[in-house]
Amino acid sequence: MPTALPAAPAVTAIAPVEAQLAAVTEGMAAVEATEVEVDEVPEVERRLNEKEDDEVIDGTSQTDALHSVTIAKFDDPKLGLPESLIKGLYEMNFTKPSKIQAISLPKIWANRNLLAQSHNGTGKTACFVLGMLRIADARVKKPQALCICPTRELAKQIAEETHRMGKYMLLESGMTVKCILKEERYEKGATMPDQIVIGTPGKIWTLISLRVLDTAAIKVFVLDEADEMLTAGHGDNTKRIRKVMPKQLQTLFFSATWKEETVKFANSLKGSGGEASWAQVTIKRQHIFNDQVKQYYLECNGFKEKEERLGELLSLIDAGQIIVFVNTRDSVESLTRRLTADGHSVSSIHGKMEERARDKALKDFHDAASKILIATNVLSRGIDVPAVTLVVQYDMPVMHGGMYDPETFLHRVGRTGRFGRKGVALNLIENKKELRVLNDIQDYYERKAQIQEIPPTTDPEAMLALLTVK
Ligand code: ADP
Ligand code: MG
Repeated sequence: MPTALPAAPAVTAIAPVEAQLAAVTEGMAAVEATEVEVDEVPEVERRLNEKEDDEVIDGTSQTDALHSVTIAKFDDPKLGLPESLIKGLYEMNFTKPSKIQAISLPKIWANRNLLAQSHNGTGKTACFVLGMLRIADARVKKPQALCICPTRELAKQIAEETHRMGKYMLLESGMTVKCILKEERYEKGATMPDQIVIGTPGKIWTLISLRVLDTAAIKVFVLDEADEMLTAGHGDNTKRIRKVMPKQLQTLFFSATWKEETVKFANSLKGSGGEASWAQVTIKRQHIFNDQVKQYYLECNGFKEKEERLGELLSLIDAGQIIVFVNTRDSVESLTRRLTADGHSVSSIHGKMEERARDKALKDFHDAASKILIATNVLSRGIDVPAVTLVVQYDMPVMHGGMYDPETFLHRVGRTGRFGRKGVALNLIENKKELRVLNDIQDYYERKAQIQEIPPTTDPEAMLALLTVK
């Protein structure tokens, strides 16, 4: 858990990009912009059940004028949101801001840099999307807000939310939003005119290197799933991108979890702005689980039994959508084959699948054309499918080398219980080693007795009652 408040962003000159050009120009051809899908408007108003004495802490200094400044509604004069934006929010049934929205939006509006942590499913996306919509100026035909995140699925989702929220504002202003996906191609010499850009770090860095994405006018830089964006895989690109941002910049970090690297990196962004430009919202580790999600574990005697138990369980449940997390691509494929052969309606997704197949899998699951989604950790973070009522961790999450992975555990559980909904998370334990991983994770979060054991002798009716959201 972070304690240090990071200082202001570094003053960095724009690095020369010619050196990167040669490596990335190959195979570039023009294709049309990716179309962004829009979800249907929900019918009921959603309220989050956040506790009054809650865990979301305004970590900004007590002497800071912005400490404890909150908004009670989206049309609070402190924000002065344009009518067109309020209209978009109300159409999405966003009537009352969640705590993270209430605390962080005034800070974002005051141009602060922000490290913001809050529970899964509490509406972090809206905080930074509003921050991006507010800053961009339609008259400037260059990117002014850049958001990077770990997966294509999440980039698409954030772009969709930006389109929904900004439905009227974008139309009125003529501003455009671009979701940069792997297959995106630009002709030589082309530049992006879009004011808001969302994408994954590898591709974004390529386009910056090619000078397709001009960073000179960027005013806000967002890292969603910030801790993940600063660790292996994404860290190098994220840091490279941050380095070529202009001197005057607002940096926003959002995640439900912090890792040491996040705070270290934030601390390294020191410069003329000083510590006072940074604000922080945190949650204590022991409060970070959403208690609307009931958590259970079921011990199985080896792999075969685990596979059988999963098949039985899935046959019992007929309501809601289910995500099953496994650790490897091979497991995704073998489990998909097995469950499909047993007559289940299954989609599957992993990082080595072709882009179109990934898109189809998630769309089918979103549209409830398939009821079960088998996924690797490519889907563990950020994805918001409100109809998910059960998450099964078929394999316990471990890092390279077998060390337990508490962040992935939390994010997987967080795919259910979105914004005030209830959910269930079930851990299927194959052997003693997996049990130890589960126990280590429980210890880490100081939740020993809160993940309940389901006795292996539990009859199907009782099992169904436990796994059904009430
Ligand atoms: P997080 O990033 O914190 O996990 P998301 O931003 O994905 O959460 O939001 C979770 C869900 O809550 C989304 O379906 C989103 O549309 C919805 N949501 C966010 N803020 C509000 C609000 N103020 N009122 C109603 N629904 C909201
Ligand atoms: Mg999120």
